[in-house]
Amino acid sequence: MTAAHKVKTRPILPRCMQVIERGWLSCNSIVFQEDRHAVMIDSGYGNEAAETLALLDRAILGKPLTRLLNTHCHSDHIGGNAALQKKYRVHTTVPIGEAPIIERWDDEELLLTYADQAAQRFAVDATLAPGDVVRLGNLDWQVLAAPGHDHHALIFFSPDERIVITGDALWENDFGVVFPALRGD
Ligand SMILES: [Zn+2]
Repeated sequence: MTAAHKVKTRPILPRCMQVIERGWLSCNSIVFQEDRHAVMIDSGYGNEAAETLALLDRAILGKPLTRLLNTHCHSDHIGGNAALQKKYRVHTTVPIGEAPIIERWDDEELLLTYADQAAQRFAVDATLAPGDVVRLGNLDWQVLAAPGHDHHALIFFSPDERIVITGDALWENDFGVVFPALRGD
């Protein structure tokens, strides 16, 4: 392999889209700027909710956050949901298969006990299912099923921009951890 092949290039994202990168193991959040408001995907660990709010403030510069979507409902992706709902009254959407898990607040499936995390309960306003199309920024995103890491996880694919937002279904150079202890075979 030549030196040129080792150069790692950063992807060029559309102007409407920002990635808030967090430390291991908290999730990365995606922020979309729309004309008068902003939208966020995934909200980080509960014990980092104050940091999530501060990072979001810097990203959206006074715009209201009106919508929050979750790729899946593990503790590091939903931990900031309650704080965001409290501050912005944000409309919150989860994968359709996750809604009953949120409803009964299943500590095991939410990886709260497994990851020794705390999260406050939050309200689910809507659900998304595979086959839906959602408008984020000025782009249409196909909602696709991505079971494996999480049985009900959804990913978002923009054919126009050739970008996929994978949650934990795919990691850089790898795929996400599978939890047989929770799901059996
Ligand atoms: Zn996860």
